[in-house]
Amino acid sequence: MKTAIYPGSFDPVTLGHLDIIKRSARLVDHLIVGVLNNNTKTPLFSVDERVNMLEDVTKDLDNVEILSFSGLLVDFAKEHNVQAIIRGLRAVTDFEYELAMSQTNRVANPDVDTIFLNTSLKYAYLSSSMVKEMAMYGGDISKFVPEQIIDRVYQKYGIAVRNNK
Ligand code: ADP
Repeated sequence: MKTAIYPGSFDPVTLGHLDIIKRSARLVDHLIVGVLNNNTKTPLFSVDERVNMLEDVTKDLDNVEILSFSGLLVDFAKEHNVQAIIRGLRAVTDFEYELAMSQTNRVANPDVDTIFLNTSLKYAYLSSSMVKEMAMYGGDISKFVPEQIIDRVYQKYGIAVRNNK
């Protein structure tokens, strides 16, 4: 059985993340989405909230499991018998950091390979930070995040009613 992990902050999950999740779930038997719990940045959503949102938006994908983790990704991967780490690449700006991280992970655990999926063009510009910036000022985020979580993002900024309605 092939298991992969797609790690990230998912603060919050975007349509770009969901696209990578759906595409990688087709490549492996079991996909673990790993929500990072020890981010140096202060997240907008707690780890439980991020896990819940991911569970909601992936509930129709039978081979996808959402787990949180802290500490080293390679340790988490070993614990769950993972063969591959999935990362999304949007632009060259992602590349340098991602390459260094995958090489570091390879040294730490040579049994786990990193697979890069390129972004779908329509989500190439999309990031969680951009979603937060838009939402903070009441901008329309409906083209950026899954429908189920739009209101949860606005609520964090005290905006109860959707701007686009
Ligand atoms: P991290 O803090 O680990 O970068 P993110 O939640 O920002 O966590 O991203 C998780 C993964 O998803 C990373 O591999 C990132 O490159 C990828 N990713 C983020 N946004 C997109 C997108 N719009 N299209 C494809 N991949 C993306």
